[in-house]
Amino acid sequence: MSLRKSKLPSRILVTAGPTREMLDPVRFITNLSTGEMGYALARAARRRGARVTLISGPTALKPPRGIQFVSITTVEDLRHALQKHFFRNDLLFMAAAVGDFLPLRKATKKIPRKRRWTVTFRQAPDLVATVAKQKGKRIVIGFSLETGNWMERSRRKWRRKHLDGIVANYYSAGHDPFGRGRIHVVLIDARGTRRLRLGSKGKLAEALLDWASELRERAKN
Ligand code: C5P
Repeated sequence: MSLRKSKLPSRILVTAGPTREMLDPVRFITNLSTGEMGYALARAARRRGARVTLISGPTALKPPRGIQFVSITTVEDLRHALQKHFFRNDLLFMAAAVGDFLPLRKATKKIPRKRRWTVTFRQAPDLVATVAKQKGKRIVIGFSLETGNWMERSRRKWRRKHLDGIVANYYSAGHDPFGRGRIHVVLIDARGTRRLRLGSKGKLAEALLDWASELRERAKN
């Protein structure tokens, strides 16, 4: 698989950052996502002249200039925002680290300190799989982070979630993909796989825009 220069879709939707679910009024469960990947994609797409909407969970990053910015907190907020914006765009980069588990209930008062506290979680809806089923001619790119058997698991996700492409990534003691720093990913699509080792998420964002443009060209033919 090679990355050719094709025309970038004009309306691009990016999701970024973590989601957060409250357990009681002051405590929550979330993940280590920083939002760097999605923000880098939004900035790069804007620079190339696309009309960009960025839906973001809570991060420490400043919203990039010149884009439509939508702030969300929970999986349910993100589901609503996706429903509203997905159909207005030609391309979705689903870089948000969407929670996989939702607390069954949220306490209305702060849980007092005690010897044991059991919280039950239920499975969160798979947001990207839901929108990708109705994508029509739109291109949908997902992201996958795994700690073991990452290529195979990512390939299965690519298929199961009806994605055009998936960016497979792994987490191990020697490779921390969160935040800034060198990045090693594998792009998976219907034509095969391509390894990328790049110095920053900005560079990866540029490569992912080229890839998305190519996927869009292929879908047209
Ligand atoms: O969590 P998982 O590894 O399955 O995530 C892979 C892709 O699915 C990512 O693009 C992520 O944004 C998306 N996802 C989602 N809804 C979830 C969990 C993940 O859209 N509840």
